[in-house]
Amino acid sequence: MRYIRGFRDGAAATALAARIAVAVDPGREYHLMEFCGGHTHAIFRYGVENLLPHNVRLVHGPGCPVCVLATPRLDAAIALAGLPGVTLLSYGDMLRVPASKRRSLLKARAQGADVRMVYSALEALAMAGANPERQIVFFAIGFETTTPATAHLILEAHRLGLDNLSVYCNHVLTPAAIQGILEAPGTRQWDSVRIDGFIGPSHVSAVIGSRPYEAFAATHRRPVVIAGFEPLDVMQAVDMLVRQLNEGRACIENQFTRGVTREGNGKAQALMAEVFELRPSFEWRGLGVLAGGGVRIRSKYGRFDAERRFSMPMGQTRENSACQCPSIIRGLKKPQECTLFGTVCTPRNPIGSCMVSAEGVCAAYYKYRRPAPAAVDRAHHA
Ligand code: SF4
Repeated sequence: MRYIRGFRDGAAATALAARIAVAVDPGREYHLMEFCGGHTHAIFRYGVENLLPHNVRLVHGPGCPVCVLATPRLDAAIALAGLPGVTLLSYGDMLRVPASKRRSLLKARAQGADVRMVYSALEALAMAGANPERQIVFFAIGFETTTPATAHLILEAHRLGLDNLSVYCNHVLTPAAIQGILEAPGTRQWDSVRIDGFIGPSHVSAVIGSRPYEAFAATHRRPVVIAGFEPLDVMQAVDMLVRQLNEGRACIENQFTRGVTREGNGKAQALMAEVFELRPSFEWRGLGVLAGGGVRIRSKYGRFDAERRFSMPMGQTRENSACQCPSIIRGLKKPQECTLFGTVCTPRNPIGSCMVSAEGVCAAYYKYRRPAPAAVDRAHHA
């Protein structure tokens, strides 16, 4: 805690807020997207928005691993879990994400499917070794933070010659998503979302480095500041972005110098490059199909690819039409604009993916922004 406290210091936050207030041009607006749900939660938890001038707007981005998984791919995972002899493993939040027709992996488990929660991809190795009669499938999701661990799992399965282990790969790529937000044809239709700059994720960038952002910052003239997840990290990133925008610059700057370098983690990158290759396109929930938006397992390790081992048709989906997750993921709407928010849809009973994870925007609003019931009553009786 000794090292965290300094990044939550009230006096330092006040000083930083004053510095931002002086830098901000009152004659313009600053729309800054925090890509990652970890930033969104830090912003709400510590009331960062309340410390910023009213013309600095924070737009919540799509960086929540379970929120962006396209529903057909989750439906396919549920179908996979229902196959005889299959044990499906995934991270905890993934089990609660609603799929088509309000199904989920947790409900599939209640109906008899063998679905298990793991904390680490490598748990699949022990599971496969101990259960040679079963097919163990690791349902892999997430950004570049979790991809190296999945690569390591596949390499270990290869080394051990495990024939009953495979990976259903759904790993996605952060720079491709930011680039996609800026340049996909669909993005241009989102003309009500204005993004002047990005607060980039530090954990992803610790792996990939800051270099991958450089190309699109130059092409699209949008600055990116990679920032840590403490409140003062976020505020300093806002200050750096405001100054870049005032000066007409669009550079990649690194606020999180204590963990991120330009080159990133070479070992993790080598693991990913060995096992995975770029998919030509990949569907994201809310963002649609993004060129190079995800990775797949190279044919060299194809025997560990669940999509090759099993027949996995991607069918039509039927989601709750009242759920506004796709618009929220794109920054078009706020959770309170969803009629289900806080009533039908709560963290205990999520209707959409944004209410499930600790990184989901709806979950953040529910935890930190939801008006107290008394306030709601007063408003109703006013
Ligand atoms: S509140 Fe629930 S139903 Fe509404 S957008 Fe968020 S997750 Fe979807």
